Amino acid sequence: MVKCSDMKYSKMFVKTLKTPPAAADTANHRLLVQAGFVRQVMAGVYTYLPLGLKVLQKISNIVREEMDSIGGQEVLMPILHPSSIWKQTGGWDKIDVLFKVKSRTDRDYALAQSNEETVTPLAKEWIHSAKDMPLAIYHINSKFRDELRSKSGIMRGREFLMKDMYSFHANQDDFDTFYTAAKAAYLRVFKRLGLVAKATEASGGAFTEKVSYEFEVLTDAGEAPVLYCDSCDYCVNVDDIKTYKLGDECPICKKDKLKSAMASEVGNVFDLGQKYSKAFDLTFIDTDGTKKYPIMGCYGIGISRTMGVIVEKFNDGRGIMWPASIAPFTVHLASINTNDESVIKRADEVYELLTKVGIEVLYDERTEVGAGQKLGEADMIGCPVRAVISTKTGQQIEVKMRNEKEAKLVSTEELIEIASKILR
Ligand code: ATP
Ligand code: MG
Repeated sequence: MVKCSDMKYSKMFVKTLKTPPAAADTANHRLLVQAGFVRQVMAGVYTYLPLGLKVLQKISNIVREEMDSIGGQEVLMPILHPSSIWKQTGGWDKIDVLFKVKSRTDRDYALAQSNEETVTPLAKEWIHSAKDMPLAIYHINSKFRDELRSKSGIMRGREFLMKDMYSFHANQDDFDTFYTAAKAAYLRVFKRLGLVAKATEASGGAFTEKVSYEFEVLTDAGEAPVLYCDSCDYCVNVDDIKTYKLGDECPICKKDKLKSAMASEVGNVFDLGQKYSKAFDLTFIDTDGTKKYPIMGCYGIGISRTMGVIVEKFNDGRGIMWPASIAPFTVHLASINTNDESVIKRADEVYELLTKVGIEVLYDERTEVGAGQKLGEADMIGCPVRAVISTKTGQQIEVKMRNEKEAKLVSTEELIEIASKILR
């Protein structure tokens, strides 16, 4: 079996394309297809190839670590739901993006567009008294939404990967404490992914009258017009708040003028109030002996959309430039002048050494492919460190960082040091 952490190019299930896909309207669509990370099955639906899946899993793991750090517990809830739970909350008739499926026995099902309808009945089994809370449950799973327009590559799918967490609280104070911790965890997630996400106050949409926060990353490929401040974190969705306009002084720091840009919502947190606990009659006996409904929160991160946003932010004319924390491989090792036996021997040796110390290497060991194509593909795929072995390099290795211009000659030990350092 081929292990995915140490990978030889010739064995890898990946194909880069000479020309970008014709229909691509955004950098993430064009580059992810061309560099062999994804394939489009239809509008809004994608297959993730080994390279793409590795990135998706690395993003998921960072999200996982941060959700666990605030007490979230991971489960896996289903995608196929009985229509009854959606009828119970009114979503069956009210949510226009809900995909409905009819079985051959004429029963109705819904595909998960989110999971309040499965998590609330589940929590009923655990929550009986105030001391059973706070409880926070999350999962990372596919969502389905009948979006009218599926565009911007993997940023708006009809099927996409989401982390959704749901929390349950005995009182408002407990909710507020967790909500604050969750917001901080979200900012840590996006920082670790190399993104600057601005927490934007927004109305709760269909869910609630209460304040919710959207985490917006500025990008031309985004769909939300925002006003933001360069000197502080202030950012508002223009559709939500019409009080300020472009050029006004920032109402928070008063140091800068508001600018306008397009942004993409990579995550959000909502105060659900008691809407779902009431709909499913989820109650507990409080310390004063009275029966109450828990207050709930929900917390989403669009894992696949975030991957698309990262590509939008980190690319140049030649390809993707992955932040090290989520790059499919840390080192892209290429052998050049493979008619020279000593090059093959040396490159094999470096590959073995790097993988032995746990560095993730994509090893382009192909003998039938020339230097130009190998280096072009390395830029397109976008691993942070490019290492080249050729007749010229002898016992050394030519190393170039993807986001720098100059290459330098280093020893194997130095390469290991460079690769380890960027992961810290
Ligand atoms: P949007 O306004 O972009 O449609 P939403 O308010 O419907 O998003 P939620 O239902 O709260 O989003 O979902 C949580 C997260 O899932 C969003 O913050 C976003 O990152 C992601 N997301 C939502 N819809 C899609 C989609 N169609 N494709 C990819 N990711 C999505
Ligand atoms: Mg939506």
